Amino acid sequence: MSNYVNTDEIMDNMKYKKYYQLNAVEKDLLDNHDTDLNTCNKCDIVVDSANELYWQGDSLDTYHKCMQGYDALCDDCFVKENENESI
Ligand SMILES: [Zn+2]
Repeated sequence: MSNYVNTDEIMDNMKYKKYYQLNAVEKDLLDNHDTDLNTCNKCDIVVDSANELYWQGDSLDTYHKCMQGYDALCDDCFVKENENESI
């Protein structure tokens, strides 16, 4: 047996935590390794990059006006920002 670390298990554990709640191993994984996870720019929650984050686009079709100042927002924050924008 090797000292293989099960990153899938770590990633499952860190999902939906806020960035400041992560331990050193989890932060290292998120900051320095290619994972499917990313943090929301507004609330710092860790979510799935592809399915649970909105990404700011740089073309007219993909640019979200409500995301000004953010690169990535989780579903919840995006909905809130979008509501603020349309008032
Ligand atoms: Zn958020």
